[in-house]
Amino acid sequence: MMRRAILQAHQLLTGRKILHRFDELMQTQWLSWDELYALQQERLYRLVDYAYRYVPYYQRVFREIDFHPLDLRRDPANFYRLPLLTKEEIRANWDQFLTTEPQVRRQMVSRSTSGSTGEPFVFLVDHQHRDYTTADYMRHLTWCGWQIGTPYTYMAGQKLDASLKERLRNSLMNFTLNFSEVDAYDLVDESLDSLVRQLRRRGRGILGGFPSALYVLARFVQESGVERPDLLAVRCGGEVLFPKQRRLIEETFGCRVFNWYGSYETGGGAACECEAHTGLHVSMEKCLLEILRQGRPVEGEESGEVVVTNLINFDFPFIRYRLKDEARWLVRECPCGRQSPMIAPVTGRTVELFRTVDGRVVVSDINEFLFEAEGVRQFQIVQKALDLIVVRIVRDERFDPASLDKITGIIQQVMGRQTQVKFEFPDEIPAGRTGKQKYSYSELEGSQPWE
Ligand SMILES: [Zn+2]
Repeated sequence: MMRRAILQAHQLLTGRKILHRFDELMQTQWLSWDELYALQQERLYRLVDYAYRYVPYYQRVFREIDFHPLDLRRDPANFYRLPLLTKEEIRANWDQFLTTEPQVRRQMVSRSTSGSTGEPFVFLVDHQHRDYTTADYMRHLTWCGWQIGTPYTYMAGQKLDASLKERLRNSLMNFTLNFSEVDAYDLVDESLDSLVRQLRRRGRGILGGFPSALYVLARFVQESGVERPDLLAVRCGGEVLFPKQRRLIEETFGCRVFNWYGSYETGGGAACECEAHTGLHVSMEKCLLEILRQGRPVEGEESGEVVVTNLINFDFPFIRYRLKDEARWLVRECPCGRQSPMIAPVTGRTVELFRTVDGRVVVSDINEFLFEAEGVRQFQIVQKALDLIVVRIVRDERFDPASLDKITGIIQQVMGRQTQVKFEFPDEIPAGRTGKQKYSYSELEGSQPWE
């Protein structure tokens, strides 16, 4: 209760509404599917109507396809007439995505993600978005066993763009919520050891971060024999979580892993794993998530491309935005009682697709194999040419050389016999600047940069 009072004081001083939003989300999570759907449709209408009034890009697009926001009121299926949006499209028309309301423009804060090309993708978020994102983050933490005041430590990637003002704001927020941020991009034994000590000092709490960083930490705890910290839960997302990572993290820390899926553009977690661990519930209050195959919603549990509409960022709207990930619905009821739909843990990005000599595009399960293989500490698969794949493996003494033939076999089975597979054995594969591990990417021209 003490922490809640501090949080209330923080809200009064800063004018933010995180607690309101948090209380609201704690209620709406128990709404029936019908009620959630109605709420989502109402927010979608308001977003599209706002874009129609104030956002030049959408004014133009709606005119081109002869669309009016009221069309959604008449038939929700009119939503599918709106074109899909890509990051490249936003980059090319950046200024036109920004609201023309001057008083709102002044309050907006920038967010950016970085690509392997090093060129950051910048967009703006408004007050409402920031409050809602934090509140939804807190809601997911409650699914992990958190209450206001429970220590939460998260391993964060490098902030590429944060201004001093933004950093101060974050520090204040972290202090208020009893959150603590540690770097995840320089994971040497020394920093891991100091992180474990810090976690023990902070007492029973929750740890968050990218799966690859948490996996490195878990392995460090196992191998160094340091006393493990007392964790209620581990919350991870931001990149694919492999079953082997989940197993090692849960076994090492003696607690459950809670996966989330989403990105900066979706306001953090678009879908989050609940305490029943049967799938990831979509945050319907915050986003509209679609899974499409050839532009159409998939049937049942068929997998497809993830497309998200962010329902809370009116002033720089992302409507039907392609996240370039592959996912599938789980058509079942969750024992937790929440009725929001669930997706299966996301296992791959569409940008990890490789192209073959005979013109096919393939997604390989080689990542999964490498992750399970004995003695593989890290790996990376790079398509260098149509007929050349380079596999980088950081091995230890348990690595079985026979695995190399197996890997070549799997790749050639998918890519074709003419594909050459070369191996490299570096001592380390550094994470990208954001702290994320690149498991695979293509260097072919025209391929999307991995992000
Ligand atoms: Zn559930």
